[in-house]
Amino acid sequence: MIESNVLEQVEQFSIFGEVSKLGHEQVVFCHDEPTGLKAIIAIHNTVLGPALGGTRMWNYASDQEALVDVLRLSRGMTFKAAISGLNLGGGKAVIIGDAKKMKSEAFMRRFGRFVESLGGRYITAEDVNTKTRDMEYIAMETNHVTGLPESMGGGGDPSPVTAYGTYVGMKAAVKKVYGSDSLAGKKISVQGVGQVGGYLVKHLVEEGATVYITDISEDRLKYISQEYKAHVVGQDEIYDLDVDIYAPCALGATLNTNTINRLKCKVVAGAANNQLADEVKHGNMLIEKGITLAPDFLINAGGLINVYAEFLGGYKAELAYQQAEKIYDTCLTILNNAEVQHITTQEAAMQMALKRIEDMGKVKLAY
Ligand code: NAD
Repeated sequence: MIESNVLEQVEQFSIFGEVSKLGHEQVVFCHDEPTGLKAIIAIHNTVLGPALGGTRMWNYASDQEALVDVLRLSRGMTFKAAISGLNLGGGKAVIIGDAKKMKSEAFMRRFGRFVESLGGRYITAEDVNTKTRDMEYIAMETNHVTGLPESMGGGGDPSPVTAYGTYVGMKAAVKKVYGSDSLAGKKISVQGVGQVGGYLVKHLVEEGATVYITDISEDRLKYISQEYKAHVVGQDEIYDLDVDIYAPCALGATLNTNTINRLKCKVVAGAANNQLADEVKHGNMLIEKGITLAPDFLINAGGLINVYAEFLGGYKAELAYQQAEKIYDTCLTILNNAEVQHITTQEAAMQMALKRIEDMGKVKLAY
């Protein structure tokens, strides 16, 4: 007999309620007693192809928090793949626990067996707290894994391709606003000069831009400023700079009421995910201030494009860069659509992604 307090808890949090709210196809809970593995794999939508998305390991405060995170992240992957013209669906996995203490060969291989059990409906890759080495362990149990080292036929570190996509997306936004896509002489601030931010600064400086950088890591600041002659500014000062372009490449939600009021730039184009704290409110605030936002989930899709090139087999970096180059045209189309329809660029990007999924869904109806 089920105890009444258990029933009460079940009523308060409905798993199917959460799953159906965002329209997921399948959610798999994985548990393994010997290794202590607890993971959730979420497949949001497979209309365009198998669901590809990284595995994040995080010490979530509760199972509920982990579920909400994996549902939100997997849905985001659906739209990122769709807008990038890839034949991939959206998926993601989260492993609950402390990556420093729990990860081992057995732990990751057990996770790999769960990925294998889905028969290719879900393909994994690296994400926060999972590395190339973990993908190698997963690959011992399944072929449905990307992000492998180049020595194993993989695409290696995706950050250079992500940075390149962000760079061409930025150029498209600059073309829209200034009439020419040249960055020569432009003043650009880059927040976060980690993997992606560092490569982005290189592209910007090579094109003749004046670049201002900030980071919480003194080591990265020192290295990037010396390597590319970029100017170091304070972590908060970055929002008040008199620049043409602001490139958030560290954190999400840096476009909020406080920061938008301070920004003096005409373009925002960076690699960070979920830059708008509130998509509608802050998207509209940017329009009112005359600031053009290059949609983040489009211009940071280079990493996904890179693992897609690996998934197709016979990885070739040129193919990944060619696909990332297309971000320029897509970005320009979205910015034009947003202007014509008087909607935010984020909304215009979502429209385009949804339309592709809808159109391709109809194609697949014919056998
Ligand atoms: P990273 O961890 O290598 O770099 C992030 C940098 O931001 C670090 O140097 C860190 O010290 C700095 N940082 C953190 N908090 C900061 C703060 N408050 N102010 C200033 N700097 C701060 O990560 P990354 O791989 O370069 O990714 C950067 C962003 O791009 C992330 O938001 C990530 O989700 C997104 N992204 C990355 C990829 C990829 O291929 N790596 C793909 C898509 C999206």
